[in-house]
Amino acid sequence: MTTPVAAAGDVRSAGGKTPRFAEDTVLDIKRLTRRFDDVVAVDDVNLKIRRGEIFALLGGSGSGKSTLLRMLAGFATPSEGRILLDGQDITRMPPHRRPINMMFQSYALFPHMSVEQNIAFGLKQDKLPKADIRARVAQMLKLVHMERFARRKPAQLSGGQRQRVALARSLAKRPRLLLLDEPMGALDKKLRSEMQLEVVEIIEQVGVSCIMVTHDQEEAMTMADRVGVMADGWIEQVGSPVDIYETPVSRTVAEFIGTLNLLEGEILVDAADHCLISSPALERPLYIDHGVTTQAAERRVWAGLRPEKIWLTRERPEARYNWEQGVVEDVAYLGGFSQYYVRTRQGTLFKVGMANTERRGDRPGWDEAVYVYWEDHSVMVLNR
Ligand code: ADP
Ligand code: MG
Repeated sequence: MTTPVAAAGDVRSAGGKTPRFAEDTVLDIKRLTRRFDDVVAVDDVNLKIRRGEIFALLGGSGSGKSTLLRMLAGFATPSEGRILLDGQDITRMPPHRRPINMMFQSYALFPHMSVEQNIAFGLKQDKLPKADIRARVAQMLKLVHMERFARRKPAQLSGGQRQRVALARSLAKRPRLLLLDEPMGALDKKLRSEMQLEVVEIIEQVGVSCIMVTHDQEEAMTMADRVGVMADGWIEQVGSPVDIYETPVSRTVAEFIGTLNLLEGEILVDAADHCLISSPALERPLYIDHGVTTQAAERRVWAGLRPEKIWLTRERPEARYNWEQGVVEDVAYLGGFSQYYVRTRQGTLFKVGMANTERRGDRPGWDEAVYVYWEDHSVMVLNR
């Protein structure tokens, strides 16, 4: 058993987004499985969504995100398991009867209908009184700042505007749960980051619980209160963005989120207040300022180090541990920061991030001899 660097709660209070959502569960997913012939797309997933939260399912292509979302919407039938919404079993309920709305990546707006007709569509199907529909559509147009475009057709709108309409249409029926599948997929990068914040603002105003699916970690971390990392139909870890980045539970999560230096090693010393890990990739053992294991049998571990937590220097560090000597093999200047690739004497390639806080700093260049070093608490110890 590996003890994380800090308990999840500590990490969150140290800098995570303050949870706005209630502690009670709006959606309870129990042992949900979906098989396609020999593929297990979703494999025994258990998950509780809290009322009012924005939850992101994050994972690579084929990890089962869309299949899970489609089962919640009712577009796919589970092979096993149950879905409870506010305690009610909706596993077999047809999609149109569920108080759930799904917004698709392509938005699926009706091209021959105006913006207001698109928003009104579901309300008309539900045979709401005309006056109520008018009031609701006006409210939705205001919510997404599209009052001026009510009469336009989707083809006459920009990508961001189309997305606002799709969101308004999804929210018009006041669903208890909003599902978003790759919501920013159709937008270019700059527009995407603007829309991410705008969509969060709208969802928060309405107070709807939301599950979104994305393969874009920045999107998940920007928008979500909690993130579930999916791989092979499994949810590997659920936590706040800070939790999953700083305290990943496995190599799969650590490597999927952000950039990582990963070293295989063996525990040499494991005490209550520190441990030492040796690695063939390093000249000297890693020193970590906490103990990691309760079972002596688990000696093989992986040490993960994030590039921004490694420092570069030209002077030899005075510390006994946690530094290596090397040569700058490559530098990628990325504006706000530079990514260094340092080849150590052991032949290990370290990715080191350096913030470019000065316009004309005297930074190490190609082929320069340097030292890399890191703090005792910067190493993430992973046992799987
Ligand atoms: P993601 O949305 O994370 O990319 P999906 O849920 O679309 O992943 O797919 C998960 C797995 O299930 C993949 O291996 C995919 O090929 C398979 N799969 C999804 N839908 C079907 C289907 N209708 N028939 C057969 N296999 C499917
Ligand atoms: Mg998908």
